[in-house]
Amino acid sequence: MSLFSSIYAERDAEIRSILTSVRCPSLQRVEEILAKSQSSVPEAPSLAELAELLQIGVTEGADEQVELLRAHTRKHWRAPSGNTLRYVSPIYVSSFCVDACPYCNFSALRKDTVRHRLSLDELDREIELVLARDARVIELVYATDPEYDTKALVRDVSRAVRAVENIEGGGVLLCTEYLPSETYQALADAGLRGIVQWDETLDEQAYNRWHSASPRKANFHARLDNHDRAMSAGLDVAHGALFGLADFRYDALMQVARARYFAEAYGRGPFVMGTARLKPIGGKELHLSTTVSDRAHENALTTYKIALPQAGRWLQTRETFEMNLRNLLDNDVFTYSCGDVQPGGYAQIKTTSIAGAQFGVNELERNYVDNELAKLGFKINYGWMSPARTLAAR
Ligand code: SF4
Repeated sequence: MSLFSSIYAERDAEIRSILTSVRCPSLQRVEEILAKSQSSVPEAPSLAELAELLQIGVTEGADEQVELLRAHTRKHWRAPSGNTLRYVSPIYVSSFCVDACPYCNFSALRKDTVRHRLSLDELDREIELVLARDARVIELVYATDPEYDTKALVRDVSRAVRAVENIEGGGVLLCTEYLPSETYQALADAGLRGIVQWDETLDEQAYNRWHSASPRKANFHARLDNHDRAMSAGLDVAHGALFGLADFRYDALMQVARARYFAEAYGRGPFVMGTARLKPIGGKELHLSTTVSDRAHENALTTYKIALPQAGRWLQTRETFEMNLRNLLDNDVFTYSCGDVQPGGYAQIKTTSIAGAQFGVNELERNYVDNELAKLGFKINYGWMSPARTLAAR
């Protein structure tokens, strides 16, 4: 099996070296970088060139460069009409967690969190409710809950697969902690199509600062090759960093390196890139030295698109709808309702207050979303999974 860990040290050194001397590019230099990727023989921007583009987001007075990048991505990936967004319905199954990520309300150390684990009847009910809302692509979401061994995960995935297998464009994704190869194989055999797992940060030192109190998640190296294990089992993957845990420029470049590695090793990249940014949880602000401004975040979104034109980005309900409307491009993933990011959220089984939610989100009404998207030439595709084995662009 090919492993990302075999190239990690080399990429880490390369990116750190690039970031020690990167400068904000002039307008002319930005035009040069963009022209290369649009020439008759397109050339993907190098990590050093992408670092220049990311630097724009943290440089005072570089407004013209920001607008040039935005105009470029809109010109190529946002038509006046006919843009499509892919919808994913997360169904939270358990909020019991042994880990202790300080940025998550499901952390075992948070004693006030209202927790719940869905019974099988409740899981079926949540699936029914999202299907009634037209959703066809379901993402089952778990915390690090020891109750969910391979057998239990296969059982849940099989139930969700049975519910969508005869619906055009339907499919099931899974968001869990890292798992062994045999489990991924069993899940793929049960009909799972892909995994969604954010790397948090691939800056090992920063990762260890955030996760050393987590009994399972503390293992940076076991997590590093998790996507390889899933891809080797035939699953597709979504990966991304949680911006705000480390220098976001490092994380964005490492995620691009990771996506390019997958394309080379497996003949397919991620089916979508995660773009999460650290947000308040439990109604409380986190004050951090690595906070990522709106401008830097939006600039990172455009940089991802320029770096990986085939991959959509997963724009987050953690962000405001206004921000998402500014940044959405054709083929992105966008979800306007996440079941209040807690188990039983669609049926309102326990509580839909922030006390039971994983983090704060902006839940939106469908009609409002549809109207606002239509004004910009977008519509939502609820059943976008192809029957083909592979979701990701080659
Ligand atoms: S981010 Fe995941 S592993 Fe960490 S505390 Fe939350 S649910 Fe648990």
